[in-house]
Amino acid sequence: MSTHGIIACSTETGWCGRYYHWNGTPDVLGRELWKLYHGFFQENLLKMLGVLIDEHPAGWGDFADADWTLKPGFNEAPEESQRPRCLCHGDRSEEEWKIAQDTPNDASYVFVLLGEKGGIPPMMVIYSRELLLFADSREEGFYSRWYDIPKWYEIARISLSGEEPDWEVFERLILKKELRRTWGKIGRATQMHDTAELSYLREREMELKVHLQAEES
Ligand SMILES: [Zn+2]
Repeated sequence: MSTHGIIACSTETGWCGRYYHWNGTPDVLGRELWKLYHGFFQENLLKMLGVLIDEHPAGWGDFADADWTLKPGFNEAPEESQRPRCLCHGDRSEEEWKIAQDTPNDASYVFVLLGEKGGIPPMMVIYSRELLLFADSREEGFYSRWYDIPKWYEIARISLSGEEPDWEVFERLILKKELRRTWGKIGRATQMHDTAELSYLREREMELKVHLQAEES
Protein backbone atom coordinates (compact mmCIF):
# COMPACT_ATOMS: atom_id res chain seq x y z
CA MET A 1 0.00 0.00 0.00
CA SER A 2 1.28 3.41 -0.83
CA THR A 3 1.59 6.29 1.60
CA HIS A 4 -0.19 9.39 0.41
CA GLY A 5 0.97 12.96 0.86
CA ILE A 6 -0.25 16.51 0.33
CA ILE A 7 1.75 19.31 -1.27
CA ALA A 8 0.48 22.62 0.08
CA CYS A 9 1.05 26.33 0.40
CA SER A 10 0.03 28.49 3.33
CA THR A 11 -3.29 30.34 3.47
CA GLU A 12 -4.73 32.84 5.92
CA THR A 13 -6.36 30.04 7.87
CA GLY A 14 -3.68 27.36 7.59
CA TRP A 15 -2.71 25.58 4.42
CA CYS A 16 -4.27 24.28 1.23
CA GLY A 17 -2.91 21.95 -1.39
CA ARG A 18 -3.03 18.95 -3.67
CA TYR A 19 -2.97 15.21 -3.21
CA TYR A 20 0.10 13.09 -4.04
CA HIS A 21 -0.63 9.37 -4.36
CA TRP A 22 2.60 7.33 -4.42
CA ASN A 23 5.24 7.49 -1.67
CA GLY A 24 4.15 10.75 -0.13
CA THR A 25 6.73 10.28 2.62
CA PRO A 26 9.52 12.64 3.75
CA ASP A 27 12.26 10.40 2.35
CA VAL A 28 10.64 10.26 -1.11
CA LEU A 29 8.33 13.26 -1.62
CA GLY A 30 10.23 15.54 0.79
CA ARG A 31 13.48 14.74 -0.98
CA GLU A 32 11.83 15.20 -4.39
CA LEU A 33 10.41 18.62 -3.48
CA TRP A 34 13.85 19.70 -2.29
CA LYS A 35 15.39 18.49 -5.54
CA LEU A 36 12.75 20.27 -7.65
CA TYR A 37 13.17 23.56 -5.77
CA HIS A 38 16.95 23.61 -6.21
CA GLY A 39 16.94 21.97 -9.63
CA PHE A 40 14.19 22.37 -12.19
CA PHE A 41 12.53 25.41 -10.55
CA GLN A 42 15.87 27.14 -9.79
CA GLU A 43 14.79 28.28 -6.32
CA ASN A 44 11.70 30.02 -7.64
CA LEU A 45 9.14 28.88 -5.09
CA LEU A 46 6.22 30.82 -6.59
CA LYS A 47 6.77 29.19 -9.95
CA MET A 48 7.08 25.79 -8.31
CA LEU A 49 3.82 26.23 -6.37
CA GLY A 50 2.14 27.50 -9.55
CA VAL A 51 2.96 24.26 -11.34
CA LEU A 52 2.50 21.81 -8.47
CA ILE A 53 -0.71 23.33 -7.08
CA ASP A 54 -2.43 25.70 -9.56
CA GLU A 55 -1.75 24.03 -12.90
CA HIS A 56 -2.69 20.50 -11.78
CA PRO A 57 -5.88 20.84 -9.73
CA ALA A 58 -6.57 17.10 -9.42
CA GLY A 59 -3.19 16.46 -7.83
CA TRP A 60 -0.52 13.92 -8.62
CA GLY A 61 -0.01 10.21 -9.11
CA ASP A 62 3.72 10.60 -8.68
CA PHE A 63 6.69 12.51 -10.02
CA ALA A 64 9.66 10.90 -8.30
CA ASP A 65 12.61 11.05 -10.73
CA ALA A 66 10.32 12.35 -13.49
CA ASP A 67 11.59 14.35 -16.44
CA TRP A 68 10.13 17.85 -15.95
CA THR A 69 11.07 18.96 -19.46
CA LEU A 70 8.13 16.75 -20.53
CA LYS A 71 4.56 18.03 -20.20
CA PRO A 72 2.95 16.58 -17.05
CA GLY A 73 0.12 14.10 -17.59
CA PHE A 74 -0.93 10.67 -16.47
CA ASN A 75 0.38 7.63 -18.33
CA GLU A 76 -1.39 4.32 -17.84
CA ALA A 77 1.90 2.72 -18.94
CA PRO A 78 4.45 4.65 -16.87
CA GLU A 79 7.39 2.79 -18.41
CA GLU A 80 6.61 4.51 -21.71
CA SER A 81 7.12 8.00 -20.43
CA GLN A 82 9.16 9.72 -17.75
CA ARG A 83 6.76 12.62 -17.54
CA PRO A 84 5.42 13.81 -14.17
CA ARG A 85 2.14 11.97 -13.67
CA CYS A 86 -0.69 14.27 -12.61
CA LEU A 87 -4.29 13.11 -12.26
CA CYS A 88 -5.84 15.80 -14.45
CA HIS A 89 -4.01 15.58 -17.78
CA GLY A 90 -3.06 12.77 -20.16
CA ASP A 91 -4.84 9.48 -19.46
CA ARG A 92 -6.67 10.91 -16.43
CA SER A 93 -9.10 13.78 -16.17
CA GLU A 94 -10.09 13.82 -12.53
CA GLU A 95 -11.75 16.83 -10.99
CA GLU A 96 -10.14 19.46 -8.85
CA TRP A 97 -9.49 18.42 -5.25
CA LYS A 98 -8.61 21.18 -2.85
CA ILE A 99 -7.34 19.80 0.43
CA ALA A 100 -7.12 22.06 3.47
CA GLN A 101 -6.15 21.10 7.02
CA ASP A 102 -9.73 20.09 7.90
CA THR A 103 -10.61 18.24 4.65
CA PRO A 104 -11.22 14.49 5.13
CA ASN A 105 -8.60 12.55 3.13
CA ASP A 106 -6.28 9.56 3.48
CA ALA A 107 -2.86 11.21 3.36
CA SER A 108 -0.23 10.57 6.03
CA TYR A 109 1.98 13.63 5.50
CA VAL A 110 1.62 17.25 4.45
CA PHE A 111 4.46 19.27 2.94
CA VAL A 112 3.75 22.99 3.23
CA LEU A 113 6.04 25.19 1.16
CA LEU A 114 6.35 28.70 2.60
CA GLY A 115 8.22 31.86 1.87
CA GLU A 116 8.84 34.37 -0.91
CA LYS A 117 6.53 36.81 0.85
CA GLY A 118 6.86 38.96 3.94
CA GLY A 119 10.58 38.28 3.96
CA ILE A 120 10.18 34.73 5.27
CA PRO A 121 13.04 32.52 4.12
CA PRO A 122 11.73 29.66 1.98
CA MET A 123 10.81 26.67 4.10
CA MET A 124 9.27 23.25 3.98
CA VAL A 125 7.12 22.41 6.99
CA ILE A 126 6.19 18.76 7.30
CA TYR A 127 3.13 17.59 9.21
CA SER A 128 2.23 14.05 10.17
CA ARG A 129 -1.20 12.69 10.89
CA GLU A 130 -2.24 11.63 14.34
CA LEU A 131 -3.72 8.16 14.54
CA LEU A 132 -6.15 6.63 16.93
CA LEU A 133 -4.70 3.35 18.12
CA PHE A 134 -6.53 0.45 19.62
CA ALA A 135 -5.16 -2.64 21.28
CA ASP A 136 -6.46 -5.72 19.50
CA SER A 137 -6.95 -8.44 22.06
CA ARG A 138 -7.38 -11.22 19.47
CA GLU A 139 -4.18 -10.45 17.61
CA GLU A 140 -2.27 -9.15 20.66
CA GLY A 141 -1.23 -6.27 18.49
CA PHE A 142 -2.46 -2.88 17.52
CA TYR A 143 -4.62 -1.55 14.86
CA SER A 144 -5.08 2.06 14.03
CA ARG A 145 -7.84 4.20 12.72
CA TRP A 146 -7.83 7.77 11.50
CA TYR A 147 -9.82 10.56 12.97
CA ASP A 148 -12.56 11.44 10.48
CA ILE A 149 -11.22 14.96 10.33
CA PRO A 150 -7.44 14.61 10.28
CA LYS A 151 -5.39 15.89 13.21
CA TRP A 152 -2.06 17.17 11.96
CA TYR A 153 1.03 17.97 13.95
CA GLU A 154 4.30 19.50 12.87
CA ILE A 155 7.27 17.13 12.69
CA ALA A 156 9.88 19.21 10.88
CA ARG A 157 10.62 22.73 9.70
CA ILE A 158 13.30 22.69 7.04
CA SER A 159 14.95 25.80 5.63
CA LEU A 160 15.14 25.42 1.87
CA SER A 161 18.19 27.66 1.79
CA GLY A 162 20.02 25.64 4.43
CA GLU A 163 21.75 22.29 4.13
CA GLU A 164 19.86 19.40 2.65
CA PRO A 165 18.53 17.15 5.42
CA ASP A 166 19.58 13.52 5.62
CA TRP A 167 16.32 12.12 4.28
CA GLU A 168 17.27 8.53 5.16
CA VAL A 169 17.23 9.19 8.88
CA PHE A 170 14.08 11.24 8.63
CA GLU A 171 11.62 8.47 9.44
CA ARG A 172 13.61 7.77 12.57
CA LEU A 173 13.64 11.40 13.65
CA ILE A 174 9.90 11.50 13.15
CA LEU A 175 9.40 8.45 15.35
CA LYS A 176 11.67 9.90 18.05
CA LYS A 177 9.85 13.21 17.96
CA GLU A 178 6.53 11.46 18.18
CA LEU A 179 7.78 9.44 21.14
CA ARG A 180 8.82 12.63 22.98
CA ARG A 181 5.46 14.14 22.13
CA THR A 182 3.71 11.08 23.52
CA TRP A 183 5.71 11.36 26.75
CA GLY A 184 4.55 14.98 27.10
CA LYS A 185 0.96 13.84 26.71
CA ILE A 186 1.47 11.03 29.23
CA GLY A 187 2.61 13.66 31.73
CA ARG A 188 -0.51 15.74 31.16
CA ALA A 189 -2.85 12.74 31.23
CA THR A 190 -1.26 11.60 34.52
CA GLN A 191 -1.95 15.00 36.06
CA MET A 192 -5.53 14.89 34.87
CA HIS A 193 -5.98 11.27 36.08
CA ASP A 194 -7.32 10.44 32.62
CA THR A 195 -6.96 6.66 32.70
CA ALA A 196 -8.53 5.99 29.31
CA GLU A 197 -6.19 8.48 27.62
CA LEU A 198 -3.25 7.09 29.60
CA SER A 199 -3.80 3.52 28.50
CA TYR A 200 -4.04 4.67 24.88
CA LEU A 201 -0.85 6.71 25.23
CA ARG A 202 1.02 3.83 26.87
CA GLU A 203 0.12 1.62 23.92
CA ARG A 204 1.25 4.31 21.52
CA GLU A 205 4.53 4.62 23.42
CA MET A 206 5.10 0.88 23.21
CA GLU A 207 4.36 0.79 19.50
CA LEU A 208 6.77 3.62 18.79
CA LYS A 209 9.50 1.91 20.81
CA VAL A 210 8.98 -1.31 18.86
CA HIS A 211 9.29 0.63 15.58
CA LEU A 212 12.43 2.40 16.72
CA GLN A 213 14.12 -0.84 17.78
CA ALA A 214 13.14 -2.51 14.53
CA GLU A 215 14.80 0.32 12.63
CA GLU A 216 17.94 0.05 14.73
CA SER A 217 18.52 -3.63 14.07
ZN1 LIG B 1 -2.59 17.82 -14.62
